[in-house]
Amino acid sequence: MNPLTDWARELALLEGEGNLRRLSAIHHRGREVEADGKVMLNLSSNDYLGLAANLPLRTEFLQGLTPEAFLPSSSSSRLLTGNFDIYDRLETLIAGLFRRESALVFNSGYHMNAGILPAVCDARTLILADKLVHASIIDGIRLSAARCIRYRHNRYDQLEQLLVANQAGYDKIIIVTESIFSMDGDEADLRHLVALKRQYDNVLLYVDEAHAVGVRGVHGLGCAEEQDCIADIDFLCGTFGKALASVGGYVVCSKTIHDYLVNKMRTLIFTTALPPINLQWSLFILERLDCFAPQRERLRRTASLLKGALTDRGYVCPSTSHILPMTIGDSGDTVLKAEFLQRKGFYALPVRPPTVPEGTSRIRFSLTGDMAEEEIKNLIEWL
Ligand SMILES: *Cc1c(COP(=O)(O)O)cnc(C)c1O
Repeated sequence: MNPLTDWARELALLEGEGNLRRLSAIHHRGREVEADGKVMLNLSSNDYLGLAANLPLRTEFLQGLTPEAFLPSSSSSRLLTGNFDIYDRLETLIAGLFRRESALVFNSGYHMNAGILPAVCDARTLILADKLVHASIIDGIRLSAARCIRYRHNRYDQLEQLLVANQAGYDKIIIVTESIFSMDGDEADLRHLVALKRQYDNVLLYVDEAHAVGVRGVHGLGCAEEQDCIADIDFLCGTFGKALASVGGYVVCSKTIHDYLVNKMRTLIFTTALPPINLQWSLFILERLDCFAPQRERLRRTASLLKGALTDRGYVCPSTSHILPMTIGDSGDTVLKAEFLQRKGFYALPVRPPTVPEGTSRIRFSLTGDMAEEEIKNLIEWL
């Protein structure tokens, strides 16, 4: 059969299940989006601090720019001529904020996760990864030569058993987790993981703080700051694409790991470096990270308000963060509920398989630090 006929049939099947994805035609109006002529509060953005929607911030940034300083392309890999001074400034700032030896910036969180594990793993490496880690980490695992075992979500008793059973059989073991998990908004106990890894000198810890950097910690450095264990995480990763309102990924690590990645990491070596203008903006945001404590505090309050409302209505909500799932189950019902909320002025989106397990389709509310309590109370009216 013609492959295109095959694919068309598969798409029709997905549509029948309520699982067909489309690129949405929406227009951005700051914190709001407009679709089909209707303006809605965006409850599906990762702009967790509201910085991407913050016009005064952009204005201030633009005032410092000249055509000479506005470089929209690096025109080369960092290993060739793409390594502009701004990279060094940004990485020095990151390492300094985290009080660690080194930091390395990547084109995106996806590049980071798809590239680090393949670079540092070989066939004598075992990866122990949380069952719910992000797709980009799964891709990194698949591209690596390591063996991988996924432990049940946040089940450190099982993880410990796996460490005991396998520790002598491999040169090294890498424990891989997120800090705040994308779909349930719940959290890893990083201190517990640090305590586990410390029992062995060949066990390393890899933490992806994509949803936590900017949002957590007194200085906005993430859950590792909040749990006071920045120094104990071998690969402390994050993205600029969410709360930090820019683009790119980073790892905070030792100088040895930094140098090793520069030599081995294919998603760093074989791609054009980020445009200097993007790095300048990332630097601009990071330099102000301390100033966003009020947004962090407000996010904490609105999240606890919404979590209380979901729990009161009988939804099982494991979230301890600003990401809050309303799990409905059936994909079709979830889509209908999302459309209902959209008619009421709230741009909430359904999350369906394969992004989440079968039968756990949900609306994923993602709050931002520029939302008012009143707005969340209005939303709660329609739950
Ligand atoms: C969003 C996300 C990424 C990808 O980061 P990008 O910068 O968007 O490529 C990686 N890991 C996790 C956990 C994420 O949620």
